[in-house]
Amino acid sequence: MKAIMDLHTHTLAAGHAYSTLLENIDAALAMGLQYLGMSEHGPTSPGGPHNFFFSNYKVIPRIYDREENTGRVIPKPDGSLRLLCGVEANICSTNGELDLEERYLQKMDYALASIHPFAFTAGSRKENTLASVRAFQNPYVKILGHPDDGRFPLDYDELVREARQAQAVLEVNNSSLNPQSARQGGRENITELLKTCMKYDQPVIMGTDSHMCFAIGVFDDAEQLMRELEFPKELVLNYDPENIRKLINITL
Ligand SMILES: [Zn+2]
Ligand SMILES: [Zn+2]
Repeated sequence: MKAIMDLHTHTLAAGHAYSTLLENIDAALAMGLQYLGMSEHGPTSPGGPHNFFFSNYKVIPRIYDREENTGRVIPKPDGSLRLLCGVEANICSTNGELDLEERYLQKMDYALASIHPFAFTAGSRKENTLASVRAFQNPYVKILGHPDDGRFPLDYDELVREARQAQAVLEVNNSSLNPQSARQGGRENITELLKTCMKYDQPVIMGTDSHMCFAIGVFDDAEQLMRELEFPKELVLNYDPENIRKLINITL
């Protein structure tokens, strides 16, 4: 089985990522993805986009392929790759408050919410868990990004039970498994997260958190860890295009 969606990716607009949207689309086509999600960082990210970035997605074509003669990436109504435009909103408080208002969230295709050090002050395990749970209880938030950072410890048993209740999906972030990641204890925390998801039959989604096009659709570290843990593929949403409907606001 091959992953056909990557819904956690960044572009130049993040202020600390290095590829254009077109370069990401090109990479997604090369990797054989069917769905690419641009989940740009919310507006409180240093150097990140202004609110207006998220209100202008209407100008972006959504279906792409390569032009037959030239191999150039073009918008094409019957193309093989669909682009989803969303946000990786910052969780700002234990109330699960996000840095993007509802009027923006309701117009985009999907939203992840994540804890980042520049927008959230780490509290107790209980407080960090509460912040995360309240964020994905927001009806626009379908995915909790990288719930694996030891700087913001979480109660996985409670997190997974609440996610199941809210029909939210927890991310297995491929970048957190990179030893150079700023996040702490990624491998140990993702291992605990996956074991807890197995206990409750809770689905996960893999995201690359790509900050340069070469990472798009590359899930090697996440897939390796899941193999080691014998995590059931049926609980990984990336392999079946039908699962996209569980994650987005629009009909494709
Ligand atoms: Zn993030
Ligand atoms: Zn990210």
